[in-house]
Amino acid sequence: MATKKFKTEVTDLLQLIIHSLYSNREIFLRELISNASDAIDKLKYMSLVDGSLKGFSFDPRIDISFTEDGKRTLTIKDNGIGMNEEDLNNNLGTIASSGTRKFLSSLTDEQKKDSNLIGQFGVGFYSAFMVADKIEVLSRKAGEEKAYRWVSDGKSSYEIEEAERDEQGTTIILHLTEDGYTYANRYEIESLVKKYSDHIAYPIYLEYDKVNYNYEKKDEKGEPEKTSEHVVEQINTCSALWRRAKNEIKEEEYKEFYKNNYYDSEDPLFYIHTKAEGTTEYITLFYIPQKAPFDMNYADYRPGVKLYVKRVYITDDDKTLLPTYLRFVRGIIDSEDLPLNVSREILQENRVMASIRNSSVKKLLSEFKRISENNPELYEKFIKEYNRPLKEGLYSDYANRDALLELVRYHSSSRDGYVSLKSYKENMPSDQKAIYYLSGGKEETLKASPLLEAYKKKGYEVLIMDDDIDEIVIGSVYEYDKIPLKAINKAAAMDDLKEEGDEKDKEEKKGLAEKIKAALGDKVKDVRISTRLVDTPAVVVNDDSDPSAQMQRILKQMGNADLGDIKPILEINASSPLIKKIEESSDDEYVKTLSSIVLSSAMLQEGILPSDPVAYTKAISELLSK
Ligand code: ADP
Repeated sequence: MATKKFKTEVTDLLQLIIHSLYSNREIFLRELISNASDAIDKLKYMSLVDGSLKGFSFDPRIDISFTEDGKRTLTIKDNGIGMNEEDLNNNLGTIASSGTRKFLSSLTDEQKKDSNLIGQFGVGFYSAFMVADKIEVLSRKAGEEKAYRWVSDGKSSYEIEEAERDEQGTTIILHLTEDGYTYANRYEIESLVKKYSDHIAYPIYLEYDKVNYNYEKKDEKGEPEKTSEHVVEQINTCSALWRRAKNEIKEEEYKEFYKNNYYDSEDPLFYIHTKAEGTTEYITLFYIPQKAPFDMNYADYRPGVKLYVKRVYITDDDKTLLPTYLRFVRGIIDSEDLPLNVSREILQENRVMASIRNSSVKKLLSEFKRISENNPELYEKFIKEYNRPLKEGLYSDYANRDALLELVRYHSSSRDGYVSLKSYKENMPSDQKAIYYLSGGKEETLKASPLLEAYKKKGYEVLIMDDDIDEIVIGSVYEYDKIPLKAINKAAAMDDLKEEGDEKDKEEKKGLAEKIKAALGDKVKDVRISTRLVDTPAVVVNDDSDPSAQMQRILKQMGNADLGDIKPILEINASSPLIKKIEESSDDEYVKTLSSIVLSSAMLQEGILPSDPVAYTKAISELLSK
C-alpha cells in the first residue's frame, strides 16, 4: 500500500469547496453521477473508434446503493472506462484542468466566498468530501486486468493499493459524516436524481429495501404486516431534453437543464433550440449565460458546446465546434449525419460539421439581432457581457462581418450608453459623409479630446471606441452599410470638415505653419492649419498610413520593436491666442519654446508623455519667468 500526499492545490480546493459550497452540498451527487456518465461516454466512444477497445461491448449503467445501519455509506457505481493506478494519481491527486487551477489562483478572498463563482467551474469529485469523511474508489480500467483501491479522508493524503473488481468501471463508496446521513435515503436520492440528473443518457438504478404493508394481515398489535423486498429500480427517465419537441418542453425544464449541466446557479440569459431537417439533419440547443464564463478571456478557456452523434456523446472539448469568438455559448450539437467514430482531426475537415457550424453561427447571430430589435433590455445585458468577443468576430469571421456589425455597440460623443451603427447612421445629418470614431484610450480621455469640438459643432456624432480590442479590429472595417468609417485622429478626416473659405485661410496661414515646423525641426512629420479646432491651440494626429499612438504601443507589446520613428502631424488652430503669439513674435528662441510647449501639450492630451520631460518643464518655467 502506498500513501501519497495531495498536491497542495487539491488541499486548497477541498478547503474552498467545503467553505463556499457547504450550504449547497447536495450537488455532490450530481457531480459523481456526471463523472460516471462521462466515464461511460468515454468507453462507448472508445468502443466505436479504432484502437484496442474497438468492438468492446457492455451494457452502460449507473448503480446507486446505500446502507442505513451503523456507519452509513452511499455507493455510486458505473461500468465506464475506469482508472488504473496512474489515472487515479493524476485525476484524484491533483487538479487536472489548468483552467481550473488558474481560475482558483486568480480568486480574491472575497470571491472565494462566492459560491456562484466557485460552482461555475464544476467542483467535481472532491465535492463528495462535504458529506463524507472517508471515500473509497475501487476502479478497473477497461482492457486491463488489475484493479485499484484509492482511499482518503480528504485531509492531506490518500492511499492506493491493488484490489479486485469483476469488470471495468468505478465504484465510489462514501462513508458519510453525520451531516451526510440524510443522503443514505431512498427518497432523498430519488429526488436529487430527478432534480439534477434526469437527462443522463444512461439508466441510473437505485437499490433499496422496499417495505410492503399487508393490510389484510394484522399482527398482534393490530399493525399491518410488514415484509421487506430488495429491489433495483431505474430512477431517471434518460430522455435527452434536446431531442424532445420544442412545444413539449417547459421553460423551466430548459432552465434546469442548463443549470444542471453548465455549472451555473443562475438561469441562462436566453436559449435557442433548433431542429434542422433537410440535407443535413441536426439539433442544436444553445444557451447564453447571464454572466460571461470566468475563463472567457483565457487562452485555454474550456469550450461550452458538447457534440453528440445520434445521441451518443462524442466530445465536450473541441474548440472548433463554434468559432472562438462565440466561446461563451453553452449547449449541444447533436448530428444525425456524422459518422459515430468521427475523430477530432476528421471533425475539423468534415463537410457535414462545417455546414452545421456555419448554420449554427448564422442562427446565433440572427437570434442576437432579433433580440436586439425586440427586447432592448435583454440585449443590453447581453452586450454588456459579450460585446468584446463579438468585436473579435469582426476581424476573425469575415463572412459574417455584416451581421456582426449590426450587433456590436459603441459609446458615443453625444449619447449615453451604447450605440449601434444602425442608430448612428439614422442620426447622421444629411451632409455627413462618413462614420467618425475615435479610438485608443479610456472613455473619459477620448470624450475630452479636443478633436471632438468641430464634430460637435457640426452636429456629427463620434463613436468612442474605448475597448482595447477596438483599436486592433476597427482599422480593418472600412465601411458599414456603404458608409466609410473614419478615425478622426488621422489627418485625412480633417478634409471632411472643410468649409468654404477654409482653403483661403489655410493659404494665408501657410507661413505660420512653416514657421512652427521650422521651430520644431524633426519632432513632427508636418504642421498643418486645422479647420476643426475651436478652443484648443493644437492637436496631434497621425498620417493616414501610420498606426495611432495606442496601436504603436500594442504593436510594441506584441514584439514589433522596429516600428521606426513614427512622428505625429501637428494640427494648429490659427485663431487661438497662443498660436497668435507665435505668429506675431520675431524672437526665434521664444517661438521655439512656445512651439515645443504646444506640441508637448497636444501629445499629453492624447496620453503620450513628452519624450524629454525635463526639456518640457524647462521650457514652461522659462516661459513663465519671462
Ligand atoms: P472533472 O470531472 O471536472 O474533470 P473531477 O474532479 O470530478 O473533475 O474528476 C477528475 C477526473 O477523474 C475526471 O476528469 C476523470 O478523468 C476522473 N474520474 C472521476 N470520476 C470517474 C469515474 N467514475 N470513472 C472514470 N474516471 C473518473
